[in-house]
Amino acid sequence: MPEQQGSRLQQLDAAHHLHPFTDSQALHRKGARVIDRGEGVYLWDADGNRILDGMAGLWCVNLGYGREELIQAAERQLRQLPYYNLFFQTTHPRATELAATLAGLLPGDMQHVFFTGSGSECNDTVVRMVRHYWAVQGRPERKVIISRHNAYHGSTLAGASLGGMKPMHAQGGLPLPDIVHIDQPYHFGEGQGQDPHAFGLERARQLERKILELGPERVAAFIAEPIQGAGGVIIPPDSYWPEIQRICRQYDILLVVDEVICGFGRTGHWFACEHYGLEPDLMCMAKGITSGYMPLGAVAVGPRVAGGLIDGGEFFHGFTYSGHPVACAVALANIAVMRDEKIVERVHTDTGPYLQQRWASLADHPLVGETRGLGLVAALELVADKSDNRRFPGERGAGVICREHCFGLGLVMRAVGDTMIISPPLVISRAEIDELVDKARRALDLTYQTLNH
Ligand SMILES: *Cc1c(COP(=O)(O)O)cnc(C)c1O
Repeated sequence: MPEQQGSRLQQLDAAHHLHPFTDSQALHRKGARVIDRGEGVYLWDADGNRILDGMAGLWCVNLGYGREELIQAAERQLRQLPYYNLFFQTTHPRATELAATLAGLLPGDMQHVFFTGSGSECNDTVVRMVRHYWAVQGRPERKVIISRHNAYHGSTLAGASLGGMKPMHAQGGLPLPDIVHIDQPYHFGEGQGQDPHAFGLERARQLERKILELGPERVAAFIAEPIQGAGGVIIPPDSYWPEIQRICRQYDILLVVDEVICGFGRTGHWFACEHYGLEPDLMCMAKGITSGYMPLGAVAVGPRVAGGLIDGGEFFHGFTYSGHPVACAVALANIAVMRDEKIVERVHTDTGPYLQQRWASLADHPLVGETRGLGLVAALELVADKSDNRRFPGERGAGVICREHCFGLGLVMRAVGDTMIISPPLVISRAEIDELVDKARRALDLTYQTLNH
């Protein structure tokens, strides 16, 4: 695409397009970055620059760009049946096949799925489903859902309410009633100087204290991401999840796990639940379920809640595009490729450990206070002083400076405050991992120069 075309698009974009999660004035000063095409783990912008996509789009393009199997599955389905719904005692072949395929992949004894169009819609579904479930059990007072500060569960009213992003709550009067938050298990950010094991237990036991404070008879569910994604790739200490699961069982609280990022191989397992030994009652999936080629979400439902829903009369809930046939066809093709090419095994035994080993080598950089990761997701913390992990003052914008240097070098790396995060396509090769880590180090060097001027 010629350069003129890029700036023409930027002008049209500024004139007509309001963007999600964007400060419009800041965007208009710079002009939007126009991403034009993709192949494998690479993107090309409108000026022809090649960029290694270290974020797999928004944590979703797990098989990389340009996969013929997914494209052809979509095309075949568009010809056969481009749309039909699942309401009112109807199904279509791809939704049924996908539900059965997922049942064979889900952790624990989960055997049912409810389709949606996105991760946010999964979490809206969760709120309605758990409250409906308890009402069907004759316990309508069990309404409160406990989540965590700095969690991300999407951007609809329920998704943003379950999420713990304060700036999101401040816009639009959230959270919704009967959604409360406890602290996150973010050791680097909130537990400096404490033993990680003890810190993990302490954060988990906040759940117990919150349940007792509210009264266990009022609490419906606890929801969390196994590893917080948008919050900054926050990996809890190993003591955290077993204690959370114990508390949920002891007080008969439903456990809801949001696997929208972690699911479909990101951690080197089909689901992070397997890594942490979790047996959730409900589990949210989206993003990697189609490698982002089509919008789709699904809530996996364990036997307890499924039984309640099946016996509970009509559940007045669903979306026009829930389980869209083209999205389901793409999801089936996506899962077939993942199985044929043993993608999850490769992340578990080969590329995941390789990325983690290379990523950990960045820890010696003067700007880096910590590196962490699992499978093909990782983070590093930018600090002003390594000796005490002191942060830069927020207004320096160290994370944004680093992110912009990454773009300049042809790498997408995301900044969450001063935490730099990556989540590359699961098909990334060792050579491409080398390129990613080399570019990250060069970006850190440039960031160091910028910040010390
Ligand atoms: C992205 C995300 C969501 C929201 O999914 P959308 O498809 O953007 O609605 C929910 N939960 C988690 C953990 C996510 O990362």
